Amino acid sequence: MEQIPASASCTPTKSNPSEVAAVRAEWKERLPNWLQPLLTWLMGFPYSGQEPIFPDKPWWISVVIPTFVLTSGVTMAMAIVNHGGIAWAAIPIAWLLIVNAARTFQVHVCHQGIHGNFSGNQTVDRAAVEVVSTVLMVQGYDEYHDGHDDIHHPKLASDEDPDLKFTVNVMKIKPGNPESVNKRKFLLSIVSPRIHALLIISRLKSNFVSCPIYRRLMSIAWLAVFITGIVVSGKWVELLYGCLVPVTVLYHASAMCQFVTEHFWANKRQSDQSGGGHYLSLLLNRHLGDPLPEKGIAGAKWLQCWVIWWARLLFYHMPVRMGILVADLPVHGSHHLDPHDKGWTNAIYSHHNLAKRPGGHPVEVFGSFGAIFDRVMASFAQPVQEENGTEVAASTSL
Ligand SMILES: [Zn+2]
Repeated sequence: MEQIPASASCTPTKSNPSEVAAVRAEWKERLPNWLQPLLTWLMGFPYSGQEPIFPDKPWWISVVIPTFVLTSGVTMAMAIVNHGGIAWAAIPIAWLLIVNAARTFQVHVCHQGIHGNFSGNQTVDRAAVEVVSTVLMVQGYDEYHDGHDDIHHPKLASDEDPDLKFTVNVMKIKPGNPESVNKRKFLLSIVSPRIHALLIISRLKSNFVSCPIYRRLMSIAWLAVFITGIVVSGKWVELLYGCLVPVTVLYHASAMCQFVTEHFWANKRQSDQSGGGHYLSLLLNRHLGDPLPEKGIAGAKWLQCWVIWWARLLFYHMPVRMGILVADLPVHGSHHLDPHDKGWTNAIYSHHNLAKRPGGHPVEVFGSFGAIFDRVMASFAQPVQEENGTEVAASTSL
């Protein structure tokens, strides 16, 4: 278990304060029952014995919820832009909703679709992935399946892995670099016009060039509908800020934050390590949250500690959970133990059951996104062979 010191000064000093199961148990003990499902979603870690609210949640719920969130976000964003003035202050909320929904469609609906887990029907799975990925203008079924199911899972963190190639070749975050250099590369990548342009070109290629003819027709039809909507309504400014900014620049930034912290990419196989042992060493689950303030404090100190705790929960961990570690990404490490597990609709619960199976489990990293990021950056310690070129690397599983 990773030990990541919490940054707040109000954190307890007793043993193992950052151990995720212990903290989750304390959240259960000291925070209201009605908050527990929300807290489990936020941390991505259920308390001992906790069952999902809907144990047999049907697959279509995983479409309805992000559809509702996306519609709400777009409606809100367009209303804000239309109103102008002080209303702009609320645009981050609308964008967060849109990014959350768009990323959820990609990393949950499309991801489970290309693994053949989504509906139980292969035709429905392919149709769902093709429709969703056309609307979002991201990789279609074949391209995503070939890069993810055929390479990322069986050849995780190899020189062929598209996610690692993107991190190393495009973001220039390389094993062997000083931590400070890799962190600077990360920040520069997030705001790099060149990388955002590369990603947009890659997305356009996926939908208009390197795809079956029916996909091209779908993309042309969708583009025609979109342009017609703009021309007829005249709301091009609203659509620009309400749709295009969050589904391009912000979507890319979210994906880059996820890619970099997705695995311990640079862990090399040790001479005394089995192949399975090495694979396990690449896996981590990412749990957000802070230990509760120490019991027994009082007065102004009590108030200060609890204000900090709630402020970090609401204004730091919650936006990260909504905007970066969406859907089942907190337990993506456990997903690698059985990519075809059918319990994906309640992934936070089912993936922890996977981790309890004999044979080992991912490293459970707990803390803020910054702490998780620092832990992964620290693992970039050994050199890895670099692929040439950026064009292929840019077509990662967005
Ligand atoms: Zn997968």
